[in-house]
Amino acid sequence: MAFESIDPSTGETFFHMEPWGEAEREAALAAVAAATPGWAATPVAERAEAVRAIAGELRRRADELATLITREVGKLHREARGEIEKCAWVCEYYADHGPGFLADEPIETDAGKSLVAYQPLGTVLAVMPWNFPFWQVFRFAAPALVAGNTGVLKHASNVPQSALAIEEVIRDAGLPADTFRTLMIRAADVDAVIDDPRIAAVTLTGSEPAGRAVASRAAANIKKAVLELGGSDPFIVLDDADVEQAVEAAATSRFLNNGQSCIAAKRFILTPGIADDFVERFRRRVEAMTVGDPAAETTQLGPMARTDLRDELHTQVADSVRAGAQVVTGCTLPDSPGAFYPPSILDHVAEGQRAFEEELFGPVAIVLRADDAEHAVNLANGSRFGLGGAVWTADSQRGEAIARRLECGAAFVNGIVKSDPRLPFGGVKASGFGRELSRHGIQEFVNAKTVWVK
Ligand code: NDP
Repeated sequence: MAFESIDPSTGETFFHMEPWGEAEREAALAAVAAATPGWAATPVAERAEAVRAIAGELRRRADELATLITREVGKLHREARGEIEKCAWVCEYYADHGPGFLADEPIETDAGKSLVAYQPLGTVLAVMPWNFPFWQVFRFAAPALVAGNTGVLKHASNVPQSALAIEEVIRDAGLPADTFRTLMIRAADVDAVIDDPRIAAVTLTGSEPAGRAVASRAAANIKKAVLELGGSDPFIVLDDADVEQAVEAAATSRFLNNGQSCIAAKRFILTPGIADDFVERFRRRVEAMTVGDPAAETTQLGPMARTDLRDELHTQVADSVRAGAQVVTGCTLPDSPGAFYPPSILDHVAEGQRAFEEELFGPVAIVLRADDAEHAVNLANGSRFGLGGAVWTADSQRGEAIARRLECGAAFVNGIVKSDPRLPFGGVKASGFGRELSRHGIQEFVNAKTVWVK
């Protein structure tokens, strides 16, 4: 299958490229392998400054890159600009803090000197998704490059121009040639890259099936893998919460990126004292959203990234309704061009329904009615996923106690789950393993080597 950029607002194909054959893949892997020792030997302070220069290059091209994201995946243009700025932030964050995170760690033992030295692993393969086509890549690339690794990227097949632009940005920022290359290969060719002895490790962000395939292959090769998969994050609202504030946050979290974020609040778990009030206010808020052209500054919800994903979402919704879920608003398939789906709410979602068991990766909020706070926590933890979670309450101590009990990688009290370079990011259960961002992220792809001198 060819790589194509299809504008999801209109269905227009505006870029087409045949995937690489074996010879092109081999040439790129050989070039990166040749660049790897030199980059590893470059002093960490120099690597950090090179990564800082990427931030400058991203900012210089911010508007053009944001326009490309909007055209390839239908992201609101202002959100796309925010994505580029966040990539610049993560580059600067690791430029500032990476050298400290990687500094030798002296440890007192019976030796004259003993320490942990953090050394690069080599070339890391990144298999990345289309939903944050720049952020997902830079979240991995900034720490990996500062740590002295080189990188190869297999990006999602619907964002070929973003994939090529990322390589260009890194090269134009002045990094040595071939420290980071985009491989224009198909998913079917990923196994061969993982098997390649020049690849040291792999990181994947995407769906469970893709994660399962890539992590199994990495395990068969005894190579390290980090997986950031889907989520069905709970958003618990307790009786004492500020409902208006919670509704506003719910709308932001659920509909950001046209509903296609792994850490979006997906399951709204409500206790009886506020449930009806919350649903009614949420319905009004959602029905007031402006849906349309993602390039227009006034638009609040654009199209989904692909029509096949939109159609699959609708099937999940329709199956759930047949199984007893109730439509509050939306949930209808538009017959206009593009991959649009209306902002939607499903109420009375319960175990056994697809909307409860699976991730809904689009603009559909689902409401679960809890008997009380304890039941709310049990419902929250009754998911196969464990990426993020949020709880809303006037009592922040109680909120913190619940946050600590949520089975997830990031729990927020009176705030929406968001990634931040300063905090670790990743999941438990079917949401994956390993961490990105912060000190934890840069230490995933290093050899924590013991050095012992008598
Ligand atoms: P995929 O997981 O299929 O794609 C993510 C990346 O993995 C792409 O680069 C894809 O390549 C690659 N890939 C897919 N299958 C394999 C495989 N067997 N071996 C190696 N690489 C593979 O996501 P989709 O685009 O199909 O989206 C489907 C669902 O995934 C969404 O509805 C959502 O639930 C979830 N998802 C979660 C994301 C997150 O942020 N956690 C992000 C995106 C999707 P190619 O594009 O060429 O197939």
